[in-house]
Amino acid sequence: MKILVCVKQVPDTNEVKIDPVKGTLIREGVPSILNPDDANALEAALRIKDRDPGTRVAALTMGPPQAAYMLRECLAMGADEAYLLSDRAFGGADTCATSTTIAAGIRKVPGVDIIFAGRQAIDGDTAQVGPQVAQRLGIPVVTYVQDIRLGDGKATVQRQMEDGYERIEVRTPCLLTCVKELNEPRYMSVGRIVDAYQKEIAVWDHAAVGLDGKDCGLNASPTQVFRSFTPPQKGKGEMLAGSVGEMAKSLIGKLDEKHLI
Ligand SMILES: Cc1cc2nc3c(=O)[nH]c(=O)nc-3n(C[C@H](O)[C@H](O)[C@H](O)COP(=O)(O)OP(=O)(O)OC[C@H]3O[C@@H](n4cnc5c(N)ncnc54)[C@H](O)[C@@H]3O)c2cc1C
Repeated sequence: MKILVCVKQVPDTNEVKIDPVKGTLIREGVPSILNPDDANALEAALRIKDRDPGTRVAALTMGPPQAAYMLRECLAMGADEAYLLSDRAFGGADTCATSTTIAAGIRKVPGVDIIFAGRQAIDGDTAQVGPQVAQRLGIPVVTYVQDIRLGDGKATVQRQMEDGYERIEVRTPCLLTCVKELNEPRYMSVGRIVDAYQKEIAVWDHAAVGLDGKDCGLNASPTQVFRSFTPPQKGKGEMLAGSVGEMAKSLIGKLDEKHLI
């Protein structure tokens, strides 16, 4: 069996701070990381490989050349193959163009039986890419997957809901988008880090995945970000004083004043 995992390199949004004076985002020194949900997706694939050593795991990303470092991390965790879709023509892609390119890349990877992706990327935050890739490949998709059992030609999964889960049986090939509750991703091992630098990463441009330049990136993006801004900072908090009763009364008065109750 071969499992392909879609992985994205993202800025560590926990490290992004707002400049209190200028009100702008401080991006300097913010590290790039493997998107957290994608680490869970990769871990799920690696656990299947642990149980069935005949399994091969491929990691695929669309991104700039430096995304190769993240792919090396995936190899160092235990992935067998890595694919980087990188081309200026892919720049400015919205989710529609991103999924077109990723689906074209997946079609070029030999022998893929099942595809894993993260539920959501912590930068774009749309959760659209996984389902769109499945739609372009004409295969079923289950989102928010928190448990995976693979059987003969099918996967039995738990789909996370707000107040429980659904148990779904889906035929393979299919695409599953994974949530953090699925597992605890493993660390890279020293031996594998060394090995990861011996392995080749296939780098493909638009021609290599059989796409015309006009079908990628900004050219093929129905949406355009025309303005982005930092949200205004919350005002200073106010401490209430007095006895518990007085504070409660004062709080109710303030909430009432703002028509919040
Ligand atoms: C007009 C416009 C212009 C944009 N321009 C740029 C730009 O120039 N540069 C830029 O970096 N972003 C740009 N973006 C953002 C870009 O659209 C999204 O980052 C991208 O489409 C992925 O969406 P997302 O981050 O919401 O991923 P989600 O849909 O939240 O991701 C879900 C899962 O899909 C998979 N996935 C998502 N993206 C990738 C990827 N690239 N490779 C492999 N797997 C992936 C991962 O498994 C991930 O967990 C632009 C967006 C718009 C609307």
